[in-house]
Amino acid sequence: MFVPQYCPRCGHALGDAVKFGKTRRVCTNCEFIFFANPKAAAAVWIEHDGQILLVKRGMEPERGKWALPAGFIDFGEDPQEAAIRETLEETGLAITISHLVDVMFDGTTIVIIYAAHMVGGTLTAMDDVDDACWFNAATLPSPAELAFKSTQALVYEWLNHTKP
Ligand SMILES: [Zn+2]
Repeated sequence: MFVPQYCPRCGHALGDAVKFGKTRRVCTNCEFIFFANPKAAAAVWIEHDGQILLVKRGMEPERGKWALPAGFIDFGEDPQEAAIRETLEETGLAITISHLVDVMFDGTTIVIIYAAHMVGGTLTAMDDVDDACWFNAATLPSPAELAFKSTQALVYEWLNHTKP
């Protein structure tokens, strides 16, 4: 977690103080309180002809493993728009969101997972992914090759035909 040393409002050094039930970074000069909030990401479950789309991560964490197309939501950005944007950036595919699959928490990040339909584009690995492929039940990467508990959980549920 990011721990600021100086006040972003007035530049004074921050100290620790209990505010609203927790120890937080507080400015003794202007009374600014730093609230550490979780990050939020959007991920996309795209199924087509009995296959699901996974991308091979080109960056840490979990570099080299397969995950759903996903990325952090920008400040002020609608999570659905983030899902559409990240899918286009990483895979070249245009999608429309169909429904919310799940919301998961990995300890630092809240991940909002949407189901989506492909509506255009050509599958091309781009941006921070090294590969992008369609997988069916027989060709799926092994559990050890899947990044993040959220990906593993959704893939297992899909294999058991309960979700998404
Ligand atoms: Zn201050």
